[in-house]
Amino acid sequence: MSHSVLNTLIGLTYFVASLLFIFGLRSLGSPRTARRGMHMAELGMVLAIVGTLLNHEVISFTWIVVGGAIGTVLGIIIAVWTPMTAMPQRTALSHAFGALAASLVGIAHFYEKGASMNTIELVALGFEVMFGSLTVTGSLMAFGKLQEWLPGRPVTYKGQNVFNVGLFFTIAGLAIYVIIDPTAATAFYVMVGLATLFGVLLVLPIGAADMPVVIALLNSYAGLAASATGFALGNNILIIAGALDGASGLILSIIMSKAMNRSITNVLFGAFGKAPESTAKSAATLTYRSATPDEAASILDTAERVVVVPGYGMAVSQAQHAVKKLTELLERKGTDVRFAIHPVAGRMPGHMNVLLAEAGVDYDKLFDMDQINDDFERTDVAIIIGANDVVNPAARSDPGSPIFGMPILNADKARSVMVLKRSMSPGFAGIDNELFYKPNTMMVFGDAAKTVDALVTELKELTPAAARSA
Ligand code: NAP
Repeated sequence: MSHSVLNTLIGLTYFVASLLFIFGLRSLGSPRTARRGMHMAELGMVLAIVGTLLNHEVISFTWIVVGGAIGTVLGIIIAVWTPMTAMPQRTALSHAFGALAASLVGIAHFYEKGASMNTIELVALGFEVMFGSLTVTGSLMAFGKLQEWLPGRPVTYKGQNVFNVGLFFTIAGLAIYVIIDPTAATAFYVMVGLATLFGVLLVLPIGAADMPVVIALLNSYAGLAASATGFALGNNILIIAGALDGASGLILSIIMSKAMNRSITNVLFGAFGKAPESTAKSAATLTYRSATPDEAASILDTAERVVVVPGYGMAVSQAQHAVKKLTELLERKGTDVRFAIHPVAGRMPGHMNVLLAEAGVDYDKLFDMDQINDDFERTDVAIIIGANDVVNPAARSDPGSPIFGMPILNADKARSVMVLKRSMSPGFAGIDNELFYKPNTMMVFGDAAKTVDALVTELKELTPAAARSA
């Protein structure tokens, strides 16, 4: 096949792959179309790889096949073994690998052709290696903090922000120096080293609680590095896919910050997660009411309107299937059951939607915070299943609380509140929740899945047989 025919074929493959990426990303916007979107993106990636392998500059396929085989095996192992609750750190690891690939390609490119590259190529290469290197170590730090291999609390010292900003400008200065004088190999390698160090220092002062936002931001950096690689190599699919990755990562980090009422600068430089200065009354001075599943079931039996608030604990206990059974039972006896989904419930965006979809809960029953928050006042029972921070009224009332200002679900406004969790332990933000001590709240202790199963059993005892089998 002639080079021109081959190039046309590659161009076409890349064009179709780009369309699949764009439409795939768009389909991810709704739970109904998300699965299809994922398949479109997968097909796009296959086409992008095929197009790249068609390139006539490939001299030997040996190492490509070896790398592909190792990557495929590792990918399958990671995908199969990672539990849903560890998805954020798995994503961080993927970003580290992606950024490492971009950095190594950039370094190899400079080693081979650095001195003969033109200014535009060098700008792209500098960008690629700088963002790539800091994303590798930044993502590994995020992984370590979330996996609890590193301390999750923010590590801070005096003058940290000034030092980090100074280091960033030094790295950028070295990159500019290399662009002006591409023979300055030492400056290039020092820049790579400093950018690698910068990734560590950037994530060090950020608490584990903010890691998912940081991961979304690093996702964006990895995308920018990939896009820059595309410019350096003259590869269109890398430019497009990198730009999509860069933009979506940035948008996601902004959405997540908003849901926590924080700015990106506060996430990056605010050292969130230090010992809270909350003014909330200490838990020791307050009392709470605990209830057994049969007591809770008798209240549910008479409820007309129920709102379920799922949280991280539902994911840990994999209670979604039991929750689906409970929903069906309540509906059969005429109770209106809906789900209130907080944008940062769980440990990753869309966490609750994915779990409930897996259990077959109808999408029409899932309501975003803004859609349902005003309805809690007209709700008989709010069942909180393994959620904590997302229903903590301190976010509204306690200016000293680390989560003050974060929009929350108004579950406390329901006539009765049932909290299903194992103990009085705090959630992700590490703070006490005054909702648990309110007179209309009952704590039903135990693993969420077991408690919901017990509720189903007790409710069946109470519900007339006709309703049960209807
Ligand atoms: P949460 O505040 O972390 O609370 C989860 C609760 O689940 C815990 O209090 C825990 O209490 C309970 N739990 C754990 N295992 C359980 C089990 N097997 N059975 C029953 N209960 C169990 O969760 P959330 O309300 O979903 O809030 C999410 C938090 O993550 C927020 O602070 C949010 O800002 C943060 N975050 C989320 C994202 C995201 O994208 N979703 C991103 C960044 C940060 P016990 O130990 O007493 O059972």
